[in-house]
Amino acid sequence: MAIDLAETAKELGLKYFLITYLDLFGVQRAKLVPAAAIAGMQKNGAGFAGFATWLDLSPADPDMFAIPDPATLTPLPWKPEVGWLASDIWMAGKPVGHGPRVILKTLIARAAALGLQMKSGVECEFFLTTPDGMAISDPHDNAAKPCYDSNALMRRYEVITELCDAMLSLGWGAYQNDHEDANGQFEMNWNYDDALVTADRHVFFKFMAKSIAEAHGLRATFMPKPFLGLTGSGCHAHISLWRGNENLFADEAGPLGVSKLGYHFIGGTIAHADALAAVLNPTVNSYKRINAPRTLSGATWAPNTVTYSGNNRTHMIRIPEPGRFEMRLADGAVNPYLLQAALLAAGLDGIGKQTDPGPRLDINMYTDGHTVKDAKRLPLNLLDALRAFEGSSLVKESLGAEFAAAYAKLKYGEWHEYAAHLSAWERQATLDC
Ligand SMILES: [Mg+2]
Repeated sequence: MAIDLAETAKELGLKYFLITYLDLFGVQRAKLVPAAAIAGMQKNGAGFAGFATWLDLSPADPDMFAIPDPATLTPLPWKPEVGWLASDIWMAGKPVGHGPRVILKTLIARAAALGLQMKSGVECEFFLTTPDGMAISDPHDNAAKPCYDSNALMRRYEVITELCDAMLSLGWGAYQNDHEDANGQFEMNWNYDDALVTADRHVFFKFMAKSIAEAHGLRATFMPKPFLGLTGSGCHAHISLWRGNENLFADEAGPLGVSKLGYHFIGGTIAHADALAAVLNPTVNSYKRINAPRTLSGATWAPNTVTYSGNNRTHMIRIPEPGRFEMRLADGAVNPYLLQAALLAAGLDGIGKQTDPGPRLDINMYTDGHTVKDAKRLPLNLLDALRAFEGSSLVKESLGAEFAAAYAKLKYGEWHEYAAHLSAWERQATLDC
């Protein structure tokens, strides 16, 4: 055992461990375990009734165990006596095939067998709201063009710097913080890393932002479109593929400095975008961010079409500089493990099939999109995306049939629950028909 958690607890003065896992909807579940009991938990995992969370398990299933990955041990910066741990979920002596972290690790192993390693960075946009989530927290934050507003940023100095200081202390390489394009919206950036490291940090960042905002009497939400008319919260992912120290996406001779392999990877994400949307845009609310009408600030910054470009933010994929691309489709509701897994699955498929991403479009897609006759549209709602997801052989082959079935079942359930609501708009529009 490389890291003995019981010993580490003594060295770091940890009194408790928070053994966590993520269910399919990205909800973090946990048991708070005293340091005195961690040795057994490290070996056998913390027990859970899997049915009680979003995993499509049955109440008749045996105990599910979250076996912590000691490499992820992170003392909570706001409660340093507690050590956070990410876990893989197991049942009946084997990993649960549709456990989100298990799925990502399987994809990473598949890439490693080809000598490939995906690195990624994520940009987690979020709103700071009132505790009930109904309004942004700062009534003075009402500019029509609020992006990079220094006064609105500095009015949230205590929260933002507590989060940034935490990331610095954890060695994430935090390097900038800003007010984003919607009133009440912020973004904080840290260095890219291996896909699994980034996914674990993404999970932790959301947990930390919510916890620290709450301690300041606020609420941090990653909801994709909490306020109609304002820009939504995306989760842009910057992707590159490596062999050792060599970035395989970089090629000085390639268009925009991206290699053939890089374009095949992009081709895979383009070919499977509609099915990927069910994972990258996983909620009913997600579709109010993409395909949205122009916002108060003048642009949604979210894609409407399955297209790619150079350093141009009106497309699904942007190539900002040589050696990497930015996938702009995902939003704040995305499950961090499934985000990385879905992109890697699609990218590997593109590489395997040498998928051509088609022509690059160097136009403003928001104003001139109508001039492109055959640009594929993104799904217009969760139901559209789920139908594409269900019909996707990539999903079943790469992310697993077990995952495909469980995710579709739970997400169709969510759609049906939403569709069963009679809205005020519906009544107003139909009452006098
Ligand atoms: Mg942003």
